[in-house]
Amino acid sequence: MTDRIKMPERPPKERAKDFKEVNTGYTKEQARDEAKRCIQCKKPLCVGGCPVEINIPGFIKAIADGDMDKAAGILKDKNDLPAVCGRVCPQEEQCELKCILGKKGKPVAIGNLERFTADWAQKNQTEAGSSKKEGKTNGIKVAVVGSGPAGLTAAGDLAKMGYDVSIFESLHEPGGVLRYGIPEFRLPAAILDHELGNLAKLGVKTCLNCLVGRTKSISDIFKEGFKAAFIGTGAGLPSFLNVPGENLNHIYSANEFLVRVNLMRGFEFPEYDTPVWIGKKVVVVGGGNTAMDAARTSLRLGAEEVTLVYRRSRQELPARAEEAHHAEEEGIKFMFLTNPVRFGGDDKGFVTEMECVKMELGEPDDSGRRRPQVIPGSNFIIPVNMAIIAIGLGPNPVLPSLTKGLERDKWGHLIIDKSYMTTLPGVFAGGDIVGGETVIQAMGMGKRAARSIDEYLKKNA
Ligand code: FAD
Ligand code: SF4
Repeated sequence: MTDRIKMPERPPKERAKDFKEVNTGYTKEQARDEAKRCIQCKKPLCVGGCPVEINIPGFIKAIADGDMDKAAGILKDKNDLPAVCGRVCPQEEQCELKCILGKKGKPVAIGNLERFTADWAQKNQTEAGSSKKEGKTNGIKVAVVGSGPAGLTAAGDLAKMGYDVSIFESLHEPGGVLRYGIPEFRLPAAILDHELGNLAKLGVKTCLNCLVGRTKSISDIFKEGFKAAFIGTGAGLPSFLNVPGENLNHIYSANEFLVRVNLMRGFEFPEYDTPVWIGKKVVVVGGGNTAMDAARTSLRLGAEEVTLVYRRSRQELPARAEEAHHAEEEGIKFMFLTNPVRFGGDDKGFVTEMECVKMELGEPDDSGRRRPQVIPGSNFIIPVNMAIIAIGLGPNPVLPSLTKGLERDKWGHLIIDKSYMTTLPGVFAGGDIVGGETVIQAMGMGKRAARSIDEYLKKNA
């Protein structure tokens, strides 16, 4: 078996100073060599690991045969955001985890090949597989609330089925976390814009600056003639540590920090008049992708020392392995088995220190991960002048709290049945608002909900 071809990337010292993309993508030759590693299994397990059911061996074979138009067509048949997924999907836990070659060696680099194909299609402006709608719309209006990956996928699939789809988005730009959370050095906005352009070609309309629940309600939407709605409002509610001193100045939630930098283009000051203050000594609390993104972003904006503090050990880090590896290469310091218990500040109210305790791992908790326990008397102080809290995001509460009859579970997720219908007839939901955690899970739910909406409308429209 030949070796898996490594994704080319920029040197850590160079890339840690700017927001240009870290990974540079396969060359044509590298893509073809990697594609030839696929043994074209008769029963390809990789497909079962892909929530949007891409014909993985099919598009890989087309690359190996040099037929890029065909590869792009197969990919786009199931996935309207392949250049996004090729960059941010945790393939190592999905399709690549199932790849048979992984049993004895390294799995085929399915994600890298997906990125290569999608970028090729963008560069060559191929229409292959692109989602062109046959004929006119059927005139039945469907509303999609939220333009993250769940909403975008539901909207694209419904438009392909012939529905007249409108997306209502509260922010001034579409894309959800793909726009305001994931930084430019992992997912350039231009790549996202291109994929959004493909959706617009399908006739999907987008209404920005519309906070459903406040600007208009779900019942207003039905009064406007929409026959069904899909809610994909995501998880935008930051969790906090609830420790003394957390309200001091220069302590941010990761969400606020990343929105300021990405959506408001704080990293392009002074071209954009939205500067972001950065401390010299920054701590980021958390171990997921959001924590890695916040840490690497503060480094790029000029922090001299960035320390990531995580209460479990390296083995439990929830971030994608590649992101943690890149962060470490760029100079982010990791402090494992450590948890903050207090922040202290100066007389003007600015943070100056973070008191922590050391932790040890006990028995597994409900999530199956070993529960961190405080080591008594292990308190110590880290001097800091900026802290970013990245310990999780809860479901967005605005729409459910303002919509009668839309019921939630104890975690705040919308309750749905097997067909993704909420407790309101004709209102479906998917993505992080119902408990998803990744881009591809959100897309998979958007896809399956679109099929259910179609079935529902065939009976009810
Ligand atoms: P979102 O992407 O959150 O989109 C929801 C949209 O709904 C937003 O645009 C919001 O403005 C809008 N909205 C909310 N309320 C309303 C309302 N009332 N009216 C109108 N619009 C509304 N996953 C991965 O797979 N790989 C990664 O590398 C990765 N990195 C991440 C990095 C960060 C910083 C974060 C925060 C998350 C990351 N994730 C990653 C998780 C992933 O981004 C989410 O699981 C995914 O975006 C969820 O998609 P969604 O469509 O459900 O919601
Ligand atoms: Fe190719 Fe691996 Fe899928 Fe088999 S499981 S078809 S080797 S990518």
